[in-house]
Amino acid sequence: MPNQQSQHRGASSHHHIAIIGSGFSGLGMAIKLKQSGENDFVVYEREGGVGGTWRVNHYPGCACDVQSHLYSFSFEPNPNWSRMFAPQPEIRGYLEHCAEKYDLLPHIRLNTEIRTLKWDDDQSLWHIEDAQGHKSTATIVVSGMGGLSTPAYPKLKGLETFKGEMFHSQQWNHDYDLKGKRVAVIGTGASAIQFVPKIQPDVAHLDLYQRTAPWIMPKPDREVSATEQRLFKRFPVLQQGARNLIYMMLESRVLGFSISPRIMKLAQRLAIRHIHKQVEDPALRRTVTPDYTIGCKRILISNDYYPALAKDNVDVVTAGIREIRDHSVITEDGTERPVDAIIFGTGFQAADPVPRGTVFGRGGTDLLDSWNEGPEAYKGTSVAGFPNLFFLMGPNTGLGHNSMVYMIESQIAYVTDALRLMRKKELRSIEVREDAQKRFNNRIQSKLGGTVWNIGGCQSWYLHPVSGKNVTLWPDFTWKFRQQTRHFDADAYRLESARVRRTKTTKTRKTRKPVTLKHRESTSA
Ligand code: NAP
Repeated sequence: MPNQQSQHRGASSHHHIAIIGSGFSGLGMAIKLKQSGENDFVVYEREGGVGGTWRVNHYPGCACDVQSHLYSFSFEPNPNWSRMFAPQPEIRGYLEHCAEKYDLLPHIRLNTEIRTLKWDDDQSLWHIEDAQGHKSTATIVVSGMGGLSTPAYPKLKGLETFKGEMFHSQQWNHDYDLKGKRVAVIGTGASAIQFVPKIQPDVAHLDLYQRTAPWIMPKPDREVSATEQRLFKRFPVLQQGARNLIYMMLESRVLGFSISPRIMKLAQRLAIRHIHKQVEDPALRRTVTPDYTIGCKRILISNDYYPALAKDNVDVVTAGIREIRDHSVITEDGTERPVDAIIFGTGFQAADPVPRGTVFGRGGTDLLDSWNEGPEAYKGTSVAGFPNLFFLMGPNTGLGHNSMVYMIESQIAYVTDALRLMRKKELRSIEVREDAQKRFNNRIQSKLGGTVWNIGGCQSWYLHPVSGKNVTLWPDFTWKFRQQTRHFDADAYRLESARVRRTKTTKTRKTRKPVTLKHRESTSA
């Protein structure tokens, strides 16, 4: 990629809008800003290039588990996907292409990790500080940080004394040669089931530490032929048709997840058949068969995971880990297993995506103090007490059944409409009302009550570790979310006019209380 590094380092700077993160959310937001004529914005990115999760995750076998014709921007179809489920390098390449094509590079500040955001009520703007201590300000902040960016490590006795190699799936060390090594993999989630089959042929021995067996379905993957690619290029309507079909197929799954979990029994039968087809050993079959309702945790898809576990050099270890020693893992049954490397497939801190001490809203309140019971936002986007701040992929926008890019595009439309209103009405700040946020979340939580995620008999990262609330998932059809975010519903917000503030400021020097405007812009509830 061409050098995207900022020319403006050092001096404190102001932008109308600051976007944090350059994955699907951040880039999508930036593209829509640009298309709406907004140029006074900056995109802060912690890494050395764009792509977000599709840049940092590069473990062997990393690929999307949603079909690529759907898992891509609706306005930027890619006829060149090589497979139905594109591998990570292609998705990263696609996002880099978007950044270049939509002329975002001059806006992007790489290697810039934002450490703090502080709302300044007097000036109605956000003070932003990065990890190097550079300061800037923005009237509006859009967070595209995503919930799956901070790796979670297990707390294991003696881990710090381990003398071998250790890394998390998200920080794969490609310089470490696994060939001929004894490897422990901890975790059997979405990432592990992708990299285990890739490393199994190389390693001398693999101990796979499984705490909870995942439900796995066959992966309907295949190459996209050159003829199909040519047809998609020549007749984009064909690819649009494929996208629509995939969307409808995935969307129908919400019936089982959310409306009638009994439907999941059918999916469970298919998954059991998958085990029986791919695993001959009855003991291994028992080990990999989950004991909770399918869908309670993310349903995984793979054609090569079970066959890898059945190989002679693999042991699926279900005894818990008691401690780690210099060169071995000791399990609860007292067995010592020698090991050269430990790979953590232990996921992310999804239920607490923003660390304490990062975001301070009105009155200096730490976002985490507003989120004692777990993250909560209005329409997954706005949080009371945190004006002019929008979260993309915020609380309860995650999906177990469809493409996140669809949710992201819905939120981007909502934020774009909010910004349009702010410009039109000359608003200095907007802030969601607490009562609107509460009502919205009560509805969401009551809807989540009967879903397989809440009553499926498992522990998952969808649920907040302290409150047990499902703070991650959207419990309904995704088109309903789109309906609700199609227009910015100003009735749910406090709007502060710049004009009112200017008048008051000339009279009294400064004012603190926002002034609520009457308006007639709202169209959705
Ligand atoms: P994950 O699904 O959360 O899986 C973590 C695994 O580590 C689980 O098997 C968990 O066991 C285990 N684990 C965690 N702490 C442990 C401990 N202390 N001791 C033993 N085992 C422990 O994490 P992930 O596989 O990285 O995936 C996270 C999410 O990323 C996915 O759900 C998905 O949304 C996303 N993802 C998507 C793709 C894609 O293709 N689109 C690919 C990879 C990841 P328990 O089940 O018992 O907790």
